[in-house]
Amino acid sequence: MSKSKSFKSLPLSEGQLNNLASIGYESMTEIQAASLPYSLEGTDLLAQAATGSGKTLAFGLPLVERLEPKRFCIQALVLCPTRELAGQVADELRKLARHPGNIKILSLCGGQPIGPQIGSLEHGAHIIVGTPGRIVDHLRKRTLDLSQVSTLVFDEADRMLDMGFQDDLDRILGQMPKDRQTLLFSATYPENIQALSKEYQRNPKEVRIAAKDPDISTIKHRAYQCDRTQMGQGTLAVLTSVMPESAIIFCNTKESCNQLGQELRSYGLKAGVLHGDMEQRDRDQVLIRFSNGTLRFLIATDVAARGLDIDSVDLVLNASLPGDSAVYTHRCGRTGRAGRKGQAISLVGAKDGFRLEKINTAVGLSLEAKPMPRPQINNVIKLQSNLRTIAISMGRKNKIRPGDIVGALTATKEIKGDQIGNITVQDFNSYVAVPRTLADRAVEILRQRPLKGKPARARKI
Ligand code: ADP
Ligand code: MG
Repeated sequence: MSKSKSFKSLPLSEGQLNNLASIGYESMTEIQAASLPYSLEGTDLLAQAATGSGKTLAFGLPLVERLEPKRFCIQALVLCPTRELAGQVADELRKLARHPGNIKILSLCGGQPIGPQIGSLEHGAHIIVGTPGRIVDHLRKRTLDLSQVSTLVFDEADRMLDMGFQDDLDRILGQMPKDRQTLLFSATYPENIQALSKEYQRNPKEVRIAAKDPDISTIKHRAYQCDRTQMGQGTLAVLTSVMPESAIIFCNTKESCNQLGQELRSYGLKAGVLHGDMEQRDRDQVLIRFSNGTLRFLIATDVAARGLDIDSVDLVLNASLPGDSAVYTHRCGRTGRAGRKGQAISLVGAKDGFRLEKINTAVGLSLEAKPMPRPQINNVIKLQSNLRTIAISMGRKNKIRPGDIVGALTATKEIKGDQIGNITVQDFNSYVAVPRTLADRAVEILRQRPLKGKPARARKI
């Protein structure tokens, strides 16, 4: 165990310390403890730490602390590889920015119309969180002024380089003051990260927290014989016999994700699919539905699942066995977290014997592929979620808060507050989970009641 370090050891104001306590952050994570003393002094950072280690706060805190709320200009830019991550980062920054308050955070990502973004920029912002492609679009249109930026963050820099954003990064960096703090965060440390750092940082302090493999020793591991062509049947058999509340089902390719999703649907089993070729909006909605419990099962590639802040699931199902044992470990790390029971089940094809051996040796297991259980068809119905998500066509930009949605839904007294599930408010849309049996009525109620004085569109997704 690492020793816990209090935020009080940092040069932070009483207000920010109280804010952190109210968020529920009691002590620093390792990467935070190792980097914040430097970054809060204004030093450049080249930081590496695994996913889930708390990197957002490690760059978010210095960024917020440096801001001058009274100066109405863009003072910080955070570059993220995907819109989902940008959204998660913006949400976390909003919490940190409650102190000093009155800080405007704007996210600029692709997959959304650019017009409203231009409008928001005209109103001014202190912090921009965005994807490189869209930031470049704004620079080309001259709708974004980066000349006053004093803190620049590369978040998940390794992934941005993987995704081929180097040219965009060069273009963006060309429009920024040289006199700034540059914080570079990455989960891994490939060579091109060093090159990026050399080019854009000044005497960075290097902080590296060795990635600890997730502790998967408390998880129950099992394997079943299942040919690749039987993946759908195998998945059905596992889910209907284990009956997990939630599961991530990993496939090695996008194609098999799609195929498996379709096949499960043909059995009456709903699972969300998540991979890199999907439209951002669809990815967002799948993730929202999975995290609010409307979708109990998520079929994903490793790349799509990486970096996502998803709660621990009951079951990790390897519909296809990975060739790399480290990937097996990372997949399994999605279950059994935070002291919860977890299990990992793998479908092992006729040609996967070698892969299974490799995993056994590397992870210290002695898994043998047993004969597949039979699908319990009668159980399929019990695997349905009893929630439904409703999408509402208004969001933060329309000044919508979760309370407005609760207010509208409960106004007729047919739906009680405690029946309403998770609410997610994004810039232009909101999502609310409600019991399946009340979903149609909830849609009608929302359509009849204006939100913030304007009629909103609502539909089940
Ligand atoms: P990373 O960017 O390294 O993948 P995140 O910044 O997304 O990690 O943080 C992972 C989770 O840990 C988030 O849910 C975040 O709210 C939580 N977290 C971060 N810092 C702390 C802390 N000091 N104490 C408790 N929880 C924290
Ligand atoms: Mg992160």
